[in-house]
Order: sequence, then structure tokens, then C-alpha cells
Amino acid sequence: MVSRVIPVEAFDLVIFGGTGDLAGRKILPALFRRYCAGQLPEGSRILGAARADLDRAGYADFARAAIREHAPGRHCEDGSLEAFLKRLDYVAVDACGESGWAALAGRLAGGDRVRAFYFSVGPGLFGDLAQRLRRHGLAGADSRIVVEKPFGHDLESARALNATLAAQFDEGQIYRIDHYLGKETVQNLMAVRFGNMLFEPLWNSQYVDHIQITVAETVGVGGRGEYYDRAGAMRDMMQNHLMQLLCLIAMEPPAKFEPDEVRDEKVKVIKALDPVAPHHIVRGQYEAREGDAEAHPSYREAVDDPRSTTESYVALKAHVSNWRWAGTPFYLRTGKRLVARSSVINVVFKDAPHSIFGAEAGRHANVLSIRLQPNEGITLRVTIKEPGPGGMRLVDVPLDMSFAEALGPEGEDPPDAYERLIMDGIRGNQTLFMRGDEVEAAWAWTDPIIAGWQARGEAPKPYDSGSTGPRDADLLMERDGRKWRGINP
Ligand code: NAP
Repeated sequence: MVSRVIPVEAFDLVIFGGTGDLAGRKILPALFRRYCAGQLPEGSRILGAARADLDRAGYADFARAAIREHAPGRHCEDGSLEAFLKRLDYVAVDACGESGWAALAGRLAGGDRVRAFYFSVGPGLFGDLAQRLRRHGLAGADSRIVVEKPFGHDLESARALNATLAAQFDEGQIYRIDHYLGKETVQNLMAVRFGNMLFEPLWNSQYVDHIQITVAETVGVGGRGEYYDRAGAMRDMMQNHLMQLLCLIAMEPPAKFEPDEVRDEKVKVIKALDPVAPHHIVRGQYEAREGDAEAHPSYREAVDDPRSTTESYVALKAHVSNWRWAGTPFYLRTGKRLVARSSVINVVFKDAPHSIFGAEAGRHANVLSIRLQPNEGITLRVTIKEPGPGGMRLVDVPLDMSFAEALGPEGEDPPDAYERLIMDGIRGNQTLFMRGDEVEAAWAWTDPIIAGWQARGEAPKPYDSGSTGPRDADLLMERDGRKWRGINP
């Protein structure tokens, strides 16, 4: 099946922080792949902007190396890469000073078109950039800004950041990225729920026993130690990525698949979340890998603070108090240095109310697993008779659909989240971006959790590198007579 490319008009895109890690790893490779898909119309202008003193050729060198490393493949060799690099330009601009702005204005002169400014810089620069874009007349009604996480550190800072941006741009011009929302399967979650009759009648506390959301990473904090130690898993993952997944699973069907309709429903979910009781949260911190401590140091060694009490793992039980979900717990967990890299949502249905096959047939629950990574796809576990003679023995088997196999053009990777999100930003579709009130509501739920464990002076539980997390996280489930499903989906 050939993927459909929706054409866009020629546009301007300025990447502030164009020489940074995110630009090299995600933004430029995503733009290159969209170019190869025929989605960067002739006349579009893509400008990297940062303080480094580079010329166009110097920036092309940076982009070439980054794309070869992060988007390798035949297009890097068939002339496409060099053709794409000719589309790039660079301006040295200081977000906090006046240098470079006149040159940027010159580069963007002419052309009545959509203009997108990607703020791929630390949030401390958002206000400076927004003000200078206005002051230099670079942003008009058809302009938009794309901002990266972290969007605030708590409710107060998120409010301040929202206010800073709102002073210069309307909410309709602000695109807050949570790249999880750009993943194919995350949107498929909405398609599966709202495009099929099959699931929605069962999608409530009457039929769903509980829901598990797991985002597991094998990597440690790596080079992000300084940032991560100030954030922790709760702020870095739970408040945004897992919260977004929970919203999409739990929300009511919007009347239309329109940005504000979808986001209104998501905000309602966040506001319906109960505060989390202290005994419903487990925090963990990874230890060094046994026998390989040099390559896989402990969390505390990685962040260079032997007394750090920041969590690299968090698991919790949440309740959405509304008619649909009252009584159905949502178990969420995320952590670093776990046994596998995997993001999966498991919707565990209740047992059949009565087994006609007798006690020896065992208990069998249907489980709908939505895999975000790796191998994006959906599996429904159904109960069937074990083949062969000898009575009625039941067994659970997967009805498995891998999206790559079912839908992907042969030999090509599905589009990366950043490809979709950048193009949605250009098209002016905010559905997959977080609205200001949504971010604030998520912090309003998160802040008391963090304040609670700070007040109690709790230290995270140690867990082995390469494990499934601290034992207490298993107990969180076992106390309720449930079990985490394997991290390897
Ligand atoms: P980074 O590698 O430190 O890059 C920062 C970029 O900003 C560089 O291009 C830097 O170039 C530029 N810059 C810094 N100060 C500037 C100034 N005063 N004026 C103009 N440009 C300036 O950071 P990053 O990892 O790319 O992250 C960028 C943003 O994305 C951060 O907010 C980060 O939290 C977020 N983010 C990153 C990732 C990731 O995987 N890297 C993932 C999610 C979110 P010069 O020093 O030459 O100016």
C-alpha cells in the first residue's frame, strides 16, 4: 500500500537551535524524509538558526552528517540528500541579543506564506525568541511557533511559560510538541476506538477490569544527567507522555476529529483524575549493571550525585472519576534501564461472568494490547479451545496485527512522529499538539504527588539494571490481585 502524501503550499520554517542535538537527531532527518516523500514544495525555505558562526555550506555539512547518522538509507546515496541540502540555509542569530535578526528578516523577505518557527532551544529562551520575532516584524497572522518539552517544571512555571508565549502569540499559533502524539499507533488508538463498533460498547468500567500503560526504556540518563536529575521520571515522562496516552484511552468520543474537540475531551479526563494516594505510587532508581558497572553505572553515578533522590522509575495507580471509568484502575509505569524498550497499553477486560467449562478450564481475560514501540501494532488475545482431543481445555491466543506488515509500503519505515508533527504544524492542524490548559491541568495533578514525596522525604527504591523495576511495583498490582503484563509485548 502506498502512503498518501497530502500536498502543502510552499512555506518557511526557521529552526532556532538548528545546530542542536534535537535538530540533528530528529528535525532535520524528519524534514529530509518528507522531502523524499515529495512533501517539501519548491520554494519552501528552511533555515537553521543558532549563535554559531556558520555559513550555508557549514550548515549543510552539519545536516549531512546528522541525516546520514539518523536517517540512513538509499536516499542518502541517490542524490536526494544533496538536493535536500541545497534547500537549507543558515543564519547566525542570538535569541537573547540583537545580532542576526536583521539578517534573518532579510532571508525571510517576500513570500506570502505560512511561516513556522521551531523553538528547539531551552525553554528559558522562548520568551526572548517570541518577543524578538514580534519586534522584528517576522511573525504575522499566518505564523506559528512550535515549542518542545519540557513545558514547565511545575504548574507555576508552566503558567508563566504560557503567559510569556500568550503575550506574543494566540493559542491557535502555539504548537506544544509531545512527540508521543505523533506516533502512528497513538492515532490508531483513536481510529480503533472511534472507527469501529466493536470496542466502544465495551470500553467502560462494566467490561474493562483495568488498564496498564507501560513506557520502558533500556537506556539510562546518558548525557542528560544534569537535566534529568532535576526532573525525574514523573516530570520527564509521566506528566506528559503517559498522561497523553491515558487521555486518549479514557476520553469520551469527541463530536468531530477537530483540534479543540479532541483536546476538550482530553482536558476533561485530566480533570477527572483523583489525587494519587501515597501508597499507590512506587518510585525507583536503577543500580549499576552487575559485572558491567563501567558501561552501565548506577543512576547516582550517572548523575554524579551519590545522594540523589530523583526517581528513574515510577509506577502508580490512577483513578478517573467519571461515569465511564469509576472503579477501573489505570496502572501506569515508566522507567529507565529496564529489561526492554517498549511502550504498550494493555486494556484488560473482565473475566466472562460465568464459565460453562468449569473451574479446570481456568480464568481467561481478553486483553487488547496496543504497541507503540517497537513493532507498532495491535494484538487482541482471545480464548479458544486448545486443539486436540481430551476435553475442553482453553487457551489464549493472539490475533496479531503489525502495522508495518499490514500497511507499510514495502521496505520503508513508517513515518517518524516528528515528520507528522512538523507537517501538521505547517498545515495548521493542532489536534496532535497540547493546548495550554491541558498542560496546566497535567501539572496540577502532578505537583501534589511530587510535593507529597518531598514532604515525606521518601527515597526511591533501588532496582537492578535490566530488570522490570522495583519489587514494590509488582506488589502494587499483587495487592489488587493483578499482575503487570510482560514488558516485552
Ligand atoms: P542542545 O543540543 O543544547 O542545542 C541547543 C541549541 O540552541 C543549539 O543549536 C544552540 O546553538 C542553540 N542556542 C543556545 N543558545 C542560543 C541563543 N542564545 N540564541 C540562539 N540559539 C541558541 O539542545 P537540544 O537537545 O537540541 O534541545 C533543544 C530543546 O529541545 C530543549 O528545550 C530540550 O529540552 C528539548 N528536547 C530535546 C530532546 C532531545 O532529544 N535532544 C528531546 C525532547 C525535547 P548555539 O550554542 O550555537 O547558539
